[in-house]
Amino acid sequence: MVNAAVSDDIASGLGISRRITPTFGYYRQSNGWITISPNTRLERLKYTEQGWTYLEQYGAFDMTTYTASHPFDGLFMFGGAKEMPVAQVIETGLYIDPPLVPRCKQHLTQYHRSHGRECWAGAVRVEFPQLEGVAKELIGPFVCDFCKRKMPTVDAREQHQSVAHARTLGNVQLGQTLGDTLAGALGRHVPEAGGLTNIQARRLAELEAKEEARRAKGRENAKKYPRKAKKNLVAS
Ligand SMILES: [Zn+2]
Ligand SMILES: [Zn+2]
Repeated sequence: MVNAAVSDDIASGLGISRRITPTFGYYRQSNGWITISPNTRLERLKYTEQGWTYLEQYGAFDMTTYTASHPFDGLFMFGGAKEMPVAQVIETGLYIDPPLVPRCKQHLTQYHRSHGRECWAGAVRVEFPQLEGVAKELIGPFVCDFCKRKMPTVDAREQHQSVAHARTLGNVQLGQTLGDTLAGALGRHVPEAGGLTNIQARRLAELEAKEEARRAKGRENAKKYPRKAKKNLVAS
């Protein structure tokens, strides 16, 4: 690719007239979260009016399929990991397997259309200094009790379990004990809590508390919203 590199240099040397201004950049949204969005004058004006801040110092780039699936590479490459609020790092799960960051310090533009092997040489994972001092119990990953998927937050795990494992959790509601369900998920019969590791026992206790809270809420709602007589929806 020597030719391409040379012509890129010539193109950048020739400068301005042939230069296509990259049209995306980083913004801090009004909730603090960092996002990529178009950075044309008009767009910047629009975003600024709605309370966003354009983070000019992290440069501009083109939208490519790579950028779409690695939106923050550019930010990280120029030392911007620290800009992300703790909530974004945690809730998006970026901290679980932090991405490797190319080392070329070049955004994807007409002059650098993709990151080549040399861009990745010696690449290291991005670090988030803002996670220092965050309560340990907020830092996962929180592993799904049933399929072992790593989830970024406790809420995400509950949400995932209630959707992806609705049937298994449903069995619990049908009277099977949580212990049996978990034992099944763990692939062995666990006769009593003594057979569980500390972590499993703690999770079991958590789930049981949650389940009890859910049942209590159900009873409360049943009182608050007494079931109406079923309407006959099928016209016969
Ligand atoms: Zn590169
Ligand atoms: Zn799962």
